[in-house]
Amino acid sequence: KYSWMMLTMALVLILSACGNGSSGSSEGDKGKVGIAMPTKSSERWVNDGNNMVKEFEKLGYGTDLQYAEDVVENQVSQIENMITKGVNAIVIASIDGEALTDVLQKAHDANVKVIAYDRLIKKSEYVDYYATFDNFKVGVLQGSYIEEKLGLKEGKGPFNIELFGGSPDDNNAYFFFDGAMSILNPYIESGKLVVRSKQTTMDQVATLRWDGAAAQARMDNLLSANYASDNLDAVLSPYDGISIGILSSLKGIGYGSGDKKLPVVTGQDAELASVKSILAGEQTQTVFKDTRELAKKAVEMTESVLKGTEAEVNDTKTYDNGVKIVPAYLLEPVSVDAANLDKVLVEGGYYTKDQLGQ
Ligand code: BGC
Repeated sequence: KYSWMMLTMALVLILSACGNGSSGSSEGDKGKVGIAMPTKSSERWVNDGNNMVKEFEKLGYGTDLQYAEDVVENQVSQIENMITKGVNAIVIASIDGEALTDVLQKAHDANVKVIAYDRLIKKSEYVDYYATFDNFKVGVLQGSYIEEKLGLKEGKGPFNIELFGGSPDDNNAYFFFDGAMSILNPYIESGKLVVRSKQTTMDQVATLRWDGAAAQARMDNLLSANYASDNLDAVLSPYDGISIGILSSLKGIGYGSGDKKLPVVTGQDAELASVKSILAGEQTQTVFKDTRELAKKAVEMTESVLKGTEAEVNDTKTYDNGVKIVPAYLLEPVSVDAANLDKVLVEGGYYTKDQLGQ
C-alpha cells in the first residue's frame, strides 16, 4: 500500500512538472494575469512568454504562463483553468483565432479582461485590446526584399519563384501573404516572375500550424514536379521555421553547392537558427519583430484595462474580428539580412555575438 502511495505521489509530481506544457506561475500584490501562448516549439513564443512574465512581475502582478503545443483544445482548457483560478486578465496568442468564442464568453462572465497578443482573436466581442506588429508591412518587407534582390525594379527577369503562406487559422497569415503579394503580383502578371507550380492563392500555399516539416515536404514536391531542368530563383517564406524546411529541401537536391545557387529565401522572427543560416549564406532575409517591445505593449495594455483607463492605441480600423474592430497598437517590423544583422540584432541587444557563434 505504502509503495503505491509513493508511486502515485511521484506520478503526480512528474505530471504536474510537465503538465500541458505549463511554465509555472507566480504571485503578486496587484492580482494575477494569465498568459496563454501557442507553442514552445518556436523560440519567439518562449521569448514572448518570458518577457511578459518579467514585465508583469516588475509591476507587481503574479502570472500564470501556459503553452499549448499548438493543440487548440489544450489552449481552451488552459484558459478555462486560468478563469477558474481567478486571474484578473488573460493575454492570449491564439492557435486558432476562431476557436475561443465560448471560452471568452466565460472570461467575460467572470469579469476577466482579455488582450489579444500578436494574433487577432476573432468572433468574440470580449477582446479588449490587440497588441501586434504591422502585419501587412511584414509581408511588404518580404515581397520588397525579393523585388530588390532580383533587380525586378530595374527590369531584370524573368525569374522563377514559389510562394509559401502561414497557417490558415491564423489571421496574420493572410496579412503577411497579402502584403507580400501587393509587391509580387504585378511582376507575376507581367511575366517577370513565374510561378511554375501555378500555386498562387493562399488556399494553395498555406502551411497548417506553420509546420516546417510540412513546408519541406511541399517544397520537395514543387521541386520534383516543376524544376527538374530549371532553376528556382526565389521563395517567399512567411516564417523562419518554414524557411529552414524549404532550405533543407533545396540543399537536398544540390542547391547551394557547385554553381547551383540557393534562391532568395525570406523569413520572419529572426529565430536563432535562421540568423545563423543568414550568416552562413543560406537563408537570405528575415523580418525581425522585437518581442521585448511587444511584451511591454501588451503589459501596458493589460495594466490599463485593469485600472479602468484607456490604453494607448495607434490603429482603430484594421482589425475587424467579425464582431467588432479591436483597438490595436501596431509595432514596426524590420527587415534583416547579412548587411544589417549585426547592427539590428547584436547592437540592439537581441542576441550576443556568442549566441551567434561569432
Ligand atoms: C506570428 C509570426 C510567427 C508565426 C508562426 C504569427 O502569428 O505573427 O511572428 O512567425 O505566427 O509562429
